[in-house]
Amino acid sequence: MEFEASRAKAIDKLNHFVENNLLEYSKLRNFDFGPDNRSNISCLSPYITHGIINELEVINKSLKKFSFVKNEKFIQEVLWRVYWKGWLELRPNIWSDYLEELNNLKSEFINKQNYIDAMEGKTSLQCFNQWVNELKENNYLHNHARMWFASIWIFTLELPWQLGAEFFMKHLYDGDPASNTLGWRWVAGIQTQGKHYLASEWNIQKFTNNRFKNIKLKENATPKISEKSYYIIKQDFNNPQKLEEKNLLIFENNLSFEITDFKENRFKKIYIISNKNKNRSIKLSEKLVKFKSLLIKDQEQRLKDKSIDCEVVDISEVKNIENYYGLYPAVGENLNYLNSNSLKINFLYRKIDQIAWQYCNKGFFNFKNYIPKIISNFN
Ligand SMILES: Cc1cc2nc3c(=O)[nH]c(=O)nc-3n(C[C@H](O)[C@H](O)[C@H](O)COP(=O)(O)OP(=O)(O)OC[C@H]3O[C@@H](n4cnc5c(N)ncnc54)[C@H](O)[C@@H]3O)c2cc1C
Repeated sequence: MEFEASRAKAIDKLNHFVENNLLEYSKLRNFDFGPDNRSNISCLSPYITHGIINELEVINKSLKKFSFVKNEKFIQEVLWRVYWKGWLELRPNIWSDYLEELNNLKSEFINKQNYIDAMEGKTSLQCFNQWVNELKENNYLHNHARMWFASIWIFTLELPWQLGAEFFMKHLYDGDPASNTLGWRWVAGIQTQGKHYLASEWNIQKFTNNRFKNIKLKENATPKISEKSYYIIKQDFNNPQKLEEKNLLIFENNLSFEITDFKENRFKKIYIISNKNKNRSIKLSEKLVKFKSLLIKDQEQRLKDKSIDCEVVDISEVKNIENYYGLYPAVGENLNYLNSNSLKINFLYRKIDQIAWQYCNKGFFNFKNYIPKIISNFN
């Protein structure tokens, strides 16, 4: 399985999925048939995460093929990530606390054999070892495998969730601070307090199509407990009334300027910001660094093809740029860097986020009710 780093390839993948596999999505999506058979899911997340294609584009394409009712499950999944993002945006200190906890745990666990064995895929669990290899080789895991993996990591191998979440971020092409951190918290039982996700042998057997058997798991473990409570501390995601002609910074989550809400606005120059490992708390694998840099090059080329003045610059150079707006990079490593270097940026928020994030104060079941309303803003 390969993810080619270009918008053209992402669009091909989207079109192919919508034409051939969307119809059966809700019936088949929970099956992990293995890395050579991924047609039951879209595998679009590496592109959506980087803004190579965006959620609205994906939803619109699916609605051109089938009605909302036939498509509801897929649309819900696409908007899960918008929901998770909003949830974290309203409570950004979950991310900063996570990084602090991670830092402390890393020094404690660095030489522990069970941690090393888990990361090297050398545990007594064949399925887990295979997922480790798949994660490193393909930089992607099926959603159900992510749930089993995280559950085994936390409850059978008894390792801290924070270290597992870091391992995912290091390798996943779609690694996203919100979906990943909150996904791991959810499995552990601290996102929805007291409700954890326990992987079981029968479930893995069934949904891997019997690829794995004799899986010895701790199936009665209790949820993890966190003393920390998080309250909503940020709710203001407004854009300026009128945009002046300034420079524009775009980060790795918005790598398709031509499909953003601001594509019709005039900007003096577009700076595509890259962020190296030295400025990240979580160091990315070589393959992931390369994937990101190819996606950045692809965006640069597309802008140049349209004769738009642009330049790729390292995040450490932002301090030398003057008079700019920035497409909002969302809670994560880029925002951390900007904040810790006191770089105050006039951010521009996407319309879908402005609309959807107001419904992220409660659970996803509540959010789900607003999906038709959210989408209706874009018809
Ligand atoms: C522990 C854990 C960690 C995760 N880490 C990430 C991560 O770092 N980045 C990431 O994008 N997703 C993450 N997910 C969510 C989900 O597993 C992936 O988005 C999905 O597997 C991507 O494959 P796909 O594109 O084929 O999804 P499809 O099933 O085809 O869904 C279409 C799109 O909907 C969105 N989506 C689907 N399921 C979810 C979900 N459960 N949560 C949020 N968005 C979803 C994705 O953008 C996806 O591309 C995580 C889930 C778990 C349980």
